[in-house]
Amino acid sequence: MNASGATPPVGSSPAYDAIVIGAGFGGLYALYHLRDEMGLSVRGFDGASDVGGTWWYNRYPGARVDAPSSPFYAYTFSQELVDEWVWPETQSTQADVLAYVEHVADKFDLRKDIQFDTFVTDARYDDDNQHWTIETDGGERATARFLICAIGALFVANMPDYTGIDDFAGDIYHTGRWPHEPVSFEGKRVGVIGTGSSGVQAIPQIAKTADHVTVLQRTPQYALPARNRPLPQEDLEQYREDWDDLRASMRYRGGWPFPTSKLQAADHTFEERQERYEEMWERGGMHLAINSFTGVYVDEELNEEIAEFVRGKIRDIVDDPETAQKLMPSYPFGTKRLILDNGYFETYNRDNVTLVDLRNDPIEAFTESSVRTVHGEHPIDVLVLATGFDAVSGSMLKLNPKGRGGVPLKEKWAERFDNHLGMTIAGYPNLFMIHGPGAPGVFFTMPLGAELQTAWIESCIRHLDEAGLGAMEATEDAEASWDAEINGIANRTLYPRTDSWYTGANIPGKPRQFLGHLMGSQYFNRLTEVAEAGFKDFVFEERR
Ligand code: NAP
Repeated sequence: MNASGATPPVGSSPAYDAIVIGAGFGGLYALYHLRDEMGLSVRGFDGASDVGGTWWYNRYPGARVDAPSSPFYAYTFSQELVDEWVWPETQSTQADVLAYVEHVADKFDLRKDIQFDTFVTDARYDDDNQHWTIETDGGERATARFLICAIGALFVANMPDYTGIDDFAGDIYHTGRWPHEPVSFEGKRVGVIGTGSSGVQAIPQIAKTADHVTVLQRTPQYALPARNRPLPQEDLEQYREDWDDLRASMRYRGGWPFPTSKLQAADHTFEERQERYEEMWERGGMHLAINSFTGVYVDEELNEEIAEFVRGKIRDIVDDPETAQKLMPSYPFGTKRLILDNGYFETYNRDNVTLVDLRNDPIEAFTESSVRTVHGEHPIDVLVLATGFDAVSGSMLKLNPKGRGGVPLKEKWAERFDNHLGMTIAGYPNLFMIHGPGAPGVFFTMPLGAELQTAWIESCIRHLDEAGLGAMEATEDAEASWDAEINGIANRTLYPRTDSWYTGANIPGKPRQFLGHLMGSQYFNRLTEVAEAGFKDFVFEERR
């Protein structure tokens, strides 16, 4: 359909310049930028009922920003927006982030160009007409020259397939698909599977009211104290005054305006290092990881020393030594996404919380009213799945666009998620991903990352239009060298040694491939270079 609601005849000129799928941080910005800054006609679609993306879906108890400071987990492009929005806490709640996104949608009048409650079920490239045709679950069609997929790096829920899970008679909630109505755990026996960021945030909150919580843990986590606090409003004022400089520094400092440690561990004694870890632990947030010493993710010895420091903290916090032992992570520190917690380890000192270590006591089956492990049966009324997502590639594969010659992405990506620059795919002209495989994604600030990726999409569109070209796509050679580059960067670090969603290891049968660019600032330099060099590694077609 077009803006007036009519379905254009297939084969005609595209109804829109661009279709943007997704109305989270990435999609909203793409819509704003292409429509208001570039003057293009743009139509947005989202399966959710309103804006917010991940913050619309993930409304489980305890959900909040786990970034260093809320004012920087936000759009950076509008000084007016920065000046008028008040962030109450250093790590805002899901409700506050969603309120912010809704404010952005109001301020820039974005909703009028988005069709909500509408999943895009098909997207096909029309080679003859050089445009994309999408179909929705409502049976509508729309066409556009450019297809922008801002469909979420963490969207497709991972639903474990345990024997008997369908027989379980109680409610089952996935943290990434949390109901909009309040969920009460009062008087309930709750089972929680998963101790990633979502589980670690939710468990302490659920334990406050539940009769009993049984945590079913597969892999223990390094969680650091968030030390969330009210954001001093004089700090916010200062950020507003310095915004241009802060914004520029974020671009070059991995997405945050805060400097990271340049201290060399080898220049300090063991005691001095321990003192520094202690100081960083007290400061909270990511400080231990980024501000103790340089090289935490590459220096095995330093990494293990910090890992052991955190294990010591877990031993100190958790009263029962056996439970503490079960909570000890053994893989390199920080190589699964680091978690900021608000009383997570303390929760295991409550009488109403039990920890089951699935490594030694795996789940056998669910019954109508319990989860049975090898060594015991745990009665539960409610099951919370904090089991994460088929991350980064999952949402593109769910969309499964059909490129040149009708080739489905599932076929192209059967073995590897080949793409160029984390944004474009050979055989899928004029399609752009935001936060796709190989882009910095969560290794950078996602809202700013989306702004910078959209700026690059603008440069592509301008290049096409200025030269009278109709379509561009990456070459397969470019994809191969990009793949080597991403994995080369990852392989110089400790990250690939650990099973995580970063490597695809969390989903049975998923190809193992490092899914993010670890050096965000270098990545965005690269985008600029590619544009300035006239998009070498891309092939172009005359406009038909
Ligand atoms: P996750 O990090 O992938 O954690 C999933 C958890 O479920 C892991 O403990 C995993 O164990 C476990 N699990 C998965 N399948 C299982 C199975 N079949 N049986 C038993 N356990 C199973 O997912 P998440 O916690 O939803 O977080 C995903 C990402 O979302 C985070 O890393 C972060 O980037 C983002 N996030 C951000 C925020 C925030 O900003 N506030 C909050 C939540 C999430 P294994 O470790 O053994 O695989």
